[in-house]
Amino acid sequence: MRVWDVLIVGAGPAGSALAARLARAGHAVLVLERAHFPREKPCSEYLSPGTLRALERLGVLEHIMAARPARLAGMKVFGPDGAVMTGRYDTDRHYPAPFPYALSLPRRTLDQILRDTAARAGAVVCEGAFVEELVYERGAVAGVVARDGERAQRCVHRARVVVGADGLRSVVARRLGAVRHVGPRRIALTAHVAQVDGMHDWGELHVGRPGYVGLGPIGLGLTTIALVLPLETARRLSHPRARFFTELDRFPALAGRARADRLARPVLITGPFARWSRRVVADGALLVGDAADFFDPFTGQGIFAAVHGAELAAAVLAPALAGPADGPIPQAALAPYSAARRAAFTSKWLIERAIGLGVGWPALAGRVIDRLARRPALADLVVGAAGNFVPARAVLGLRPLFSMLW
Ligand SMILES: Cc1cc2nc3c(=O)[nH]c(=O)nc-3n(C[C@H](O)[C@H](O)[C@H](O)COP(=O)(O)OP(=O)(O)OC[C@H]3O[C@@H](n4cnc5c(N)ncnc54)[C@H](O)[C@@H]3O)c2cc1C
Repeated sequence: MRVWDVLIVGAGPAGSALAARLARAGHAVLVLERAHFPREKPCSEYLSPGTLRALERLGVLEHIMAARPARLAGMKVFGPDGAVMTGRYDTDRHYPAPFPYALSLPRRTLDQILRDTAARAGAVVCEGAFVEELVYERGAVAGVVARDGERAQRCVHRARVVVGADGLRSVVARRLGAVRHVGPRRIALTAHVAQVDGMHDWGELHVGRPGYVGLGPIGLGLTTIALVLPLETARRLSHPRARFFTELDRFPALAGRARADRLARPVLITGPFARWSRRVVADGALLVGDAADFFDPFTGQGIFAAVHGAELAAAVLAPALAGPADGPIPQAALAPYSAARRAAFTSKWLIERAIGLGVGWPALAGRVIDRLARRPALADLVVGAAGNFVPARAVLGLRPLFSMLW
């Protein structure tokens, strides 16, 4: 049986970006993806300036631009009591944005571009293949068992390293026994809606009591809308999908702007989150993207973590694969990936946790939004930190925190 250098489970941004990088480096890469592309993915579909830089390094930015994405000048954040703060990308000279805008396009388009990039680089991408189990050899992961959707057959595929890039409910992470569920427990409902009143070239976030909504134009007159609710609240709604537009009307600055008769794509549900994996490497295995950790979508940093995480993983896997080809790659050879993630993502983890937890306290969120509305330079910094180009220390130091609260 053929032994692949790398077997990647999942062809989302993390899996496809990693497959493209490793295939370009000359490695034999198999990607197993349960869906058939193009496929939908519940997401707010926004690419921060920092994400654009990571996609540029991957060599896909021109394909994304050719898909005519919407451009966002910044973010407007609406508090529960009427305060509105605005953060732009193109203002701060101390931490200049790599791009003075964010982009937004449907995930079915973005993920198709990334999947095709991996295939063009030489990775073999198998769609309709659902990975169910890991295969072990002398205590190390040595492959997977996958069910072929069309023939309903189970096949074993072997590889020197299996990468879990299979998202929020990663089978690979669960089989490694690495998953931890943490608070806040939230779910998200997302939809595409045509002709939402008052949408221009800005992303919008509306903090409510409870929950929040993110909106952004994605081109062709469509807006993607994500409603995020505490799990308990969502459980009390007997038919959350049917209640989507009614729930949006609870947010004062949104009431009446999105109409049910303009729904352009059915409402998708995902969650609950947050979750993270206690370890991201094991003998013969590695986790990347949401499979490694996903906290909360408020700051829109998941695609950055997926694409940049793939870059970090490729930097460790390429030399590890260059060694003698005699079985699974040991955990020790993959360990630098854990350290690289800590160095690269600590800033992101702090920002998304501070903000993601803060929006669960409407009184606190309202106060901070009110202060930031009066301190536009600080608001730009906060939006830049969520946009992955301003370091967390610029907004989580004592002085900026004091200015946000008093
Ligand atoms: C409501 C919401 C809004 C968001 N908004 C944004 C945003 O605006 N900007 C942003 O940057 N991030 C956003 N995110 C986060 C972002 O969507 C994720 O972080 C990103 O998709 C992670 O990429 P990934 O490749 O790790 O996982 P995914 O994109 O989930 O891809 C995983 C792939 O694995 C496949 N798969 C799963 N299980 C198996 C299996 N057993 N066998 C084979 N294949 C499998 C899936 O079909 C999928 O194609 C949002 C998330 C949510 C929930």
